[in-house]
Amino acid sequence: METTVKLKVQGVIELKEALVDGIDVSGHWNRMFEQRVIWEYTPHLIQEVASLNDAESFSWCYQCAKCVPVCPVDVVGNYGPRKLYKNAQTGTSLLESPNLWLCTTCMNCLRVCPKQVDVTKAIPAAREQAILNGKSVPAELQEALENTSRYGNELGQPARKRDAWVAQASVPVRVLSKEKQPVEWLWWVETYPAYHPRGIDASVALARIFHTLGLDVGIIGRDEKTTADSQRLAGERGLFEMLAEENIATLGKYEFKRIVVTDPHAMNAFRKHYPGLGGTYDVWHYTQLLADHLDTLRQHMTRSLGYHVTYHDPCYLGRHHGEYEAPRKLIEALPGVTFSEMWRNRENGYCCGGGGGGMWLDGFVVEHQARRLSEQRILEAVATGADTLVVSCPYEVSRFEDAAKSTGNENTIRIRDIAELIAEAIPA
Ligand code: SF4
Ligand code: SF4
Repeated sequence: METTVKLKVQGVIELKEALVDGIDVSGHWNRMFEQRVIWEYTPHLIQEVASLNDAESFSWCYQCAKCVPVCPVDVVGNYGPRKLYKNAQTGTSLLESPNLWLCTTCMNCLRVCPKQVDVTKAIPAAREQAILNGKSVPAELQEALENTSRYGNELGQPARKRDAWVAQASVPVRVLSKEKQPVEWLWWVETYPAYHPRGIDASVALARIFHTLGLDVGIIGRDEKTTADSQRLAGERGLFEMLAEENIATLGKYEFKRIVVTDPHAMNAFRKHYPGLGGTYDVWHYTQLLADHLDTLRQHMTRSLGYHVTYHDPCYLGRHHGEYEAPRKLIEALPGVTFSEMWRNRENGYCCGGGGGGMWLDGFVVEHQARRLSEQRILEAVATGADTLVVSCPYEVSRFEDAAKSTGNENTIRIRDIAELIAEAIPA
């Protein structure tokens, strides 16, 4: 039996002769190779992303698939940098695809990628380009971006109400825009802790803890605007830079030694992106500041809580800034509390879905995933047997409370910021 396959490649693949077992299969092989030409040769759609500012690593993927099992979106769908690359390789433009909006920039893929493909840079660059090209942005994200541009916060709240939460605090809170004075710690409250009812609960608790510790703290008040890190990751770099310049000018009016933030996304903006725009500060997350005063806190936390808790690592506190211990030290110091880890924790912690603009895409993502990431995480929290899910990012309380309701676990697990539990353990 004769078996002959000869090929000639001249720009496109051309079959010259194909005999297999004496049968002419030229037509079959030609169709196969025509398909392969389409499958394998669309480098311009990879370059469409890789040529953007900071996005070069998108083209370094060699399809090893290490990123697939750690991608939180792939757990509830079909995603990950490998698939984004393969889609571009096989004819789907990332800039035209709904996949453009699903990445939460959680960074878990970068943690395991041997080629250091960094989608936390490539995705925001591709989103920015899509917006510049006039591509449509999901409506709920568009609204958050417009609110940010108009009001300086994504919730569309007036600046005059930014410090209104202080009236709910049971202790005095210094508002520096009303009463200018030097402080050791400038508390950058951020949007959700200033305006959202559950964010305010954590702010009130934190104010009480700071007061108990006798810390020299003040907030800016109405002149504080969002640091806009999530808006940057959603593709609005110009809006981010405009607000960063305003916030840096505002901070220049006040005298302080360090900044304490409630929001890990604000910490990311201050630590990684404001220095390049002229604002360099010593920035601490509130769990780091409280853990630094743990001996004093222990003396005040005398009320036994009797809770079984688990803890969710925020991506922008954990993977992006390496802080896993401070929140755990605080939890372990709470009197009468049992602590169980979820099976995905610390470096491999599962994302809540709120990062990278995901906070304003919950309606959009359910059309493309089996469930929201926050719902997946609530199921993992419930599986520990805990009655309380502890969080340390202001996006998470409302996200997880919604997810507890939508998964039918409203009466199984409660969501509490660490600050709320510490304040509860300190008798009034
Ligand atoms: S881990 Fe990196 S190189 Fe491997 S498939 Fe994922 S993005 Fe590509
Ligand atoms: S950053 Fe997170 S959500 Fe985005 S592709 Fe990587 S693992 Fe998935």
